[in-house]
Amino acid sequence: MGSKILVTGGNGLVGSEFIGDQYYKPTSKDYNLINRDDTYRLMLKGFDSVIHCAAKVGGVGGNMNYKGEFFYDNIMMNTNVIEGARLSKVKNLVSFLSTCVFPDQVGYPLTEKKIHLGPPHFSNDAYAYAKRMADIQIRAYKEQYGLNYKSVIPCNIYGPNDNYDIKNGHVLPSLIHKCYIARENNTPLNIWGSGKPLREFIFSKDVAKLTEWVLHNYNESEPIILSTSEEISIREIVDMVVELMNFKGEIIFDSSKPDGQFRKPSDNSKIKHYLPDFKFTPIYEGLKETIEYFENHYNVVRKDG
Ligand code: GDP
Repeated sequence: MGSKILVTGGNGLVGSEFIGDQYYKPTSKDYNLINRDDTYRLMLKGFDSVIHCAAKVGGVGGNMNYKGEFFYDNIMMNTNVIEGARLSKVKNLVSFLSTCVFPDQVGYPLTEKKIHLGPPHFSNDAYAYAKRMADIQIRAYKEQYGLNYKSVIPCNIYGPNDNYDIKNGHVLPSLIHKCYIARENNTPLNIWGSGKPLREFIFSKDVAKLTEWVLHNYNESEPIILSTSEEISIREIVDMVVELMNFKGEIIFDSSKPDGQFRKPSDNSKIKHYLPDFKFTPIYEGLKETIEYFENHYNVVRKDG
């Protein structure tokens, strides 16, 4: 077989950014990773490495509305993919966590050592606990089997191939889609919550580049944070989206909608230590590219859960 690196979730936000013949990207219709037999059947193809991006993900809405699904789908996918990789002698694997797996009440900034120090925020606890178990599984496999498996912890990822679902999606794709509708229909733009929470955003193409580096070069059992470590308020993000999309209408901050966690600032010292010259795409630039893609592909981009 030509492809030596399996990318799960290969058509998603980050997965689609791994480009080249070395990557094999089956869809969930080809192999359902929630199903153990399907996953093991996939692994029998014989890969050198696995980049495990597949996950059931969403923004604060999706996380609160579908806790059961977020828990089950993620814990099954992680467990099957990591064990399937081990059984089929995959040498190298990188799996995705997220800064929302961290405890709600913990000293800032968030570092790789703080993942398990307390309960996650109630809005995404089901997702967070399921994902934390992937970290436990990977550490256990390193200890018992000596496998070179590891996890990355990105902050909020955004980019062209996002899911622009308004109800359950992440804040940036939801905002872009809502702003498009408000502009086309001349209606107000509704922003969830106060606009005050702070987030860190990383461009999907940066995540793919850094993950490739991690796959081939990072050998610690402790995960590694992939983040710009630059906080920006939701209100500032709204201003950028509105400007880039040329929206001139009314903006409403809807206090009946959740703010979610107030902030989750992360410490990117570890990746900076390994890659001091890495240049993160500035948010304005990444957002511009994302919005251009969305506007030019409106009919084909994903817009549902
Ligand atoms: P989180 O970082 O896991 O909380 O996930 P999100 O990507 O959903 O970001 C949520 C933050 O953006 C919260 O502070 C929301 O109140 C705010 N926000 C504002 N408008 C929207 C929206 O249309 N969708 C989402 N998901 N969040 C929004």
